[in-house]
Amino acid sequence: MEGARDGQGKDQLSVNRCALQPSGAYLAGKSYRPLQLLPQNRNKLPISLIQCLCSRAQESFAGKMAALSGKVQTVLGLLDPALLGRTMTHEHLTMNFECCYVPPPPEDKAVSEAPIEIQNLHWVQQNPYSSYENLLLFQEISAVREELQQYRQAGGGAIVENTTTGIARKLPELKQLAKDTGVHIIAGAGYYVDVTHSDETRKMTVEKLTDIMVSEVLHGADGTDIRCGVLGEIGTSWPITESEKKVLRATAHAQSQLGCPVIIHPGRHPTAPTEVVRILQEAGGDISKTVMSHLDRTIFDHGELLEFAKLGSYLEYDLFGTEMLNYPFNLRIDMPSDSQRVQMLTFLVKEGYEDRILVAHDIHTKNRLTKYGGHGYSHILKNIVPKMLSRGISQNQVDKILIDNPKHWLTFK
Ligand SMILES: [Zn+2]
Repeated sequence: MEGARDGQGKDQLSVNRCALQPSGAYLAGKSYRPLQLLPQNRNKLPISLIQCLCSRAQESFAGKMAALSGKVQTVLGLLDPALLGRTMTHEHLTMNFECCYVPPPPEDKAVSEAPIEIQNLHWVQQNPYSSYENLLLFQEISAVREELQQYRQAGGGAIVENTTTGIARKLPELKQLAKDTGVHIIAGAGYYVDVTHSDETRKMTVEKLTDIMVSEVLHGADGTDIRCGVLGEIGTSWPITESEKKVLRATAHAQSQLGCPVIIHPGRHPTAPTEVVRILQEAGGDISKTVMSHLDRTIFDHGELLEFAKLGSYLEYDLFGTEMLNYPFNLRIDMPSDSQRVQMLTFLVKEGYEDRILVAHDIHTKNRLTKYGGHGYSHILKNIVPKMLSRGISQNQVDKILIDNPKHWLTFK
């Protein structure tokens, strides 16, 4: 259908499918690219060679898929899911969030431009997106390395690094961090919210976007051979833009081919998660293998939450450690406290959703690091787990949330 919309004839469409599907030449490796079955090449290639290329590519695809099945894909390679351990399913280790800079009021200009110091720390904590320096998390590799070592000492095993195209994903750095610290790091494929989409991304067809995401998982991303292990965080705004809808459809197509985990960043509206699920479902996505992030700032009403939970996605509370009075991305939202987040987890556990809950901090600014007086990547393990236990969530249920649920989600089908 996409090809037809691009004005291609039937014959052209069938040739292009051969080239562009995961079974096709594009995904068979760079050595095939000169012979990619583009319109200008198709009349130059004998049919037998086209068939040969496709069957070799199919073998390559089948081989890669067989290797992935039943495994988790980290930046260091395939991993037995039983070795993951406690997993934070939504974090950032190297990210640039300048896309979402919020200019401060004029009277706060001086403090917003000052280096982050103890005197202005509370201001930065309350206005994290109005300090430009605060948005450049990627500058803090050595602080992040130390924090990951502390995370490991606190009993952490793995981290899903949700930085996708558009917010400075840095795969070689992630690989080095994994080597240095022993923390299993799973990298994200795909695209963040519309404001970060390049003109090139906006022009892509769903098929092209699908191919790129599949390739980021099967072959590596950003010109490296480091492979992503999840699709996401796939960003959506509210209302969902046309470019984001294309990316969502491509995500569903890639997931149906790969059997891989998907993680979504919904817009800030209570109906946004349901709308995303509808688009994914219509495009053939597997909702049972999809995480809906940021529910803590999105759905507040218990009834609405249960209605959404029935759709079958994982339910992620991933802003632990974030407490601010005025949430600048939507001032009508009262950002909950950690105590209120634990209350929501307790509610969902009582309602029988202990197999669907995931938790994380979504660290994406400098002030969240302990170097800058923040809570760091170990906050949930050190502070939130005891609180969960004190509020009636059992150790067995905590283990499901931290170990079993991430493991099941991250394992390729
Ligand atoms: Zn995130």
